Amino acid sequence: MAEPLTAAQVLKALRDEGLTVHEVRSWRRHNRNTKGPWGPLNGVMIHHTVTEGVEPSVNLCYDGRSDLPGPLCHGVIDKAGEIHLVGWGRANHAGLGDADVLRAVIRESTLPADDQADTDGNSRFYGFECINLGDGKDPWPEAQKDAIARAAAAICRAHGWTERSVIGHKEWQPGKIDPRGFTMSGMRARIAERLRAPAGAGDRATGSDTGAGTGTGAGKATGDGGAGREPAPEDVPARPDRPPEPPAPSAYEPFPGAAFFQDGRSDPVITVMGHRLNAEGCGRYRQAPTPDWNQAARRSYTAWQKKLGFRGRDADGIPGRVSWDLLRVPRVSRR
Ligand SMILES: [Zn+2]
Repeated sequence: MAEPLTAAQVLKALRDEGLTVHEVRSWRRHNRNTKGPWGPLNGVMIHHTVTEGVEPSVNLCYDGRSDLPGPLCHGVIDKAGEIHLVGWGRANHAGLGDADVLRAVIRESTLPADDQADTDGNSRFYGFECINLGDGKDPWPEAQKDAIARAAAAICRAHGWTERSVIGHKEWQPGKIDPRGFTMSGMRARIAERLRAPAGAGDRATGSDTGAGTGTGAGKATGDGGAGREPAPEDVPARPDRPPEPPAPSAYEPFPGAAFFQDGRSDPVITVMGHRLNAEGCGRYRQAPTPDWNQAARRSYTAWQKKLGFRGRDADGIPGRVSWDLLRVPRVSRR
């Protein structure tokens, strides 16, 4: 859960991630904030436009339709992998979705089926519309998929979220099929890989041939005047050779036991824990986290437990195994 990024913050985050960003008209002030809340933000949602062509797609997402006023998302990602910002604030993209899915996104746990439409998603998700006809044939160029991963990673990095905070519209709202043409699990694996590296790492996929050899089915520029006519197989994973899997347990600090957290304890694990709590927006430190177990550390941990939905004695600030494992504290000890 988090306060929304400002327009300036998102612009910087996207550019730091190596993206080419176009600012469309008055996107910074273009929103639906008079119609409902915007925030707290919990995740990023990916869509396809069911349109073709950059300009008409961007204008549609900015202006909306007669039955659905714009903005229809925050950023439009085109087939060349460039992003067009069309709004900032509440936008008509997510609609009503499943409260259980929202809870899973907040906990960054496995997604349940989206079989309810009982929760306002427009206040909770950043939205990216990706230009694609959504017919299962219109290809997804490597440059576009790379840009989707970068845009999502930029937001996750700014909030301290993992790839599990990124979902497709079809995982949120019953009946939706977007995005179609790649799997969200494959896209999340790609985002995770990106988040393990510094912002903007790696060459941007630009030419249409950079997807060759990755088995993505992206259309190659064939020089026949019809770029992208090679149909993409449906639902091809973005990285079929690397299925999404949780990072090795050894990458994270194992739960040291509740008894570890007592007055007088001083250990680098507590410092690293504090940095993770800060990244989750739960830090209650006056200054930087220290190795000492103290009231500031305990108050911060209480905030994390409450963020996870724990109440009462379950949110007493003493780490338990469940909340500890969900926090994913990078390993520093040699135990
Ligand atoms: Zn959608």
